[in-house]
Amino acid sequence: MKDKDILLAEKKEEECGIFGIYYNDGCDDAHGEGATAAARLTYYALYALQHRGQDSAGIAVCNNGEISYYKDVGLVPEAFNDAIISSLSGDSAIGHVRYSTTGAGTAENAQPLVVKYMGGQMALAHNGNLVNISNIKKRLEEKGAIFHTSSDTEIIASMLSMKIAESKSVKKAIIETMKEIEGAYSLVILADKKLIGVRDPWGIRPLCLGRLKNSYIIASESCALDAVEAEFIRDIAPGEVVIIEDNGIEYMQVKSTGREGICIFEFVYFARPDSVIDGASVYMARYEAGRQLAEEHPVRADLVIGAPDSALVSALGYSTQSGIPYGQGLLKNRYVGRTFIQPEQRQREASVSIKFNAIKSEVDGKSIVIVDDSIVRGTTTRRIVKMLRNAGAREIHMRISSPPVKFPCFLGIAMSSKEQLVASYHSREEIREMIGADSIGFLNLEGLVKTLKGIKCGLCTGCFNGDYPL
Ligand code: SF4
Repeated sequence: MKDKDILLAEKKEEECGIFGIYYNDGCDDAHGEGATAAARLTYYALYALQHRGQDSAGIAVCNNGEISYYKDVGLVPEAFNDAIISSLSGDSAIGHVRYSTTGAGTAENAQPLVVKYMGGQMALAHNGNLVNISNIKKRLEEKGAIFHTSSDTEIIASMLSMKIAESKSVKKAIIETMKEIEGAYSLVILADKKLIGVRDPWGIRPLCLGRLKNSYIIASESCALDAVEAEFIRDIAPGEVVIIEDNGIEYMQVKSTGREGICIFEFVYFARPDSVIDGASVYMARYEAGRQLAEEHPVRADLVIGAPDSALVSALGYSTQSGIPYGQGLLKNRYVGRTFIQPEQRQREASVSIKFNAIKSEVDGKSIVIVDDSIVRGTTTRRIVKMLRNAGAREIHMRISSPPVKFPCFLGIAMSSKEQLVASYHSREEIREMIGADSIGFLNLEGLVKTLKGIKCGLCTGCFNGDYPL
């Protein structure tokens, strides 16, 4: 188990953030640094996507068809420095931040993945998880493919390479590959002097398109466009491929399933609140979830607090709707990173205190509503409740801004077995007793879906009700 798994033992982890830029604004513009402008902008955008993965970071650039890259384990500022960015010259770039759900969190498994194919080189960065990789891997191995990593991204790269060799066309190879792979995949690819964005036909992971003057950008979330002062154009549609090159931009709707489903957890937990995904504001979704929660599960209390950071907006919504004052009862230590030394089993209880602390003066003697975004395993929630009790809270009412997580996720989130999910084998009352709260209330699914005002895509709600889009 990794350090952050210990400290956030019940949390879900997103597996990646991706970014790509086709830089078309010359060498002497405001972004300076001439030929490294694409790499620099990618570096800044990866900072904005850091919440989507902290295990490794990487950037690949294309300079007249030649690809160079750098990737390493760690956060973006740990993996990169100015000298490294200055060595990455090219007019297009892709970048990746990774949380490893398949394949270990090592430098070899870091992305972008750079491979050679007949007549060229390709760099590829992937957010998602394929569900039919064992069949595909077997077929490719029978055709002579050799795999060096345990990541399903390598399977996609290998299939693309073979199909480019067969068809002599990157475009055709992508279309053919999309017919065979199933699961969640948002991709950015550098190949054949093109920047290509691909979103799987179910649209499970987000992907959007932006513009910075004459340059085009593809990113996991709109907050990455904001970070480089680019303008949002639109979301890339499920099953759509966007190809950007010197001649301009081409859109292809390659495959439709009739059953689109963006992961609803993007709104509950993964995405940054300042992002807008498929037409819905993440901030507004969380705020409305808090308001809805107060309607569904009212309680008399002195103070509403949120579990930092992802539940703070929902706690504000709960406070507004209920009229109970909002405060900060828990503090999060922002400096506990991936280099934190893993505690022994017996020290794990204490390790939560390194990550969080209760503010005694705020909670002492009070009846507290604490809002969290979800309960997966329940371990951290129990420790937080205990921490608030120790700080003198008189009553603790746990309110969860999503329904109980009862089913595993096969689409790239690290909760792949039912045994890990406390709500799949315990009633709400049993969970309340287990975490030591005075009451518990979960937002129902209908209420959660209502919070996604303006959403233009169907939803995957699989982990709440077992209804997966594929
Ligand atoms: S099962 Fe849950 S976490 Fe997985 S993609 Fe669907 S909504 Fe997201």
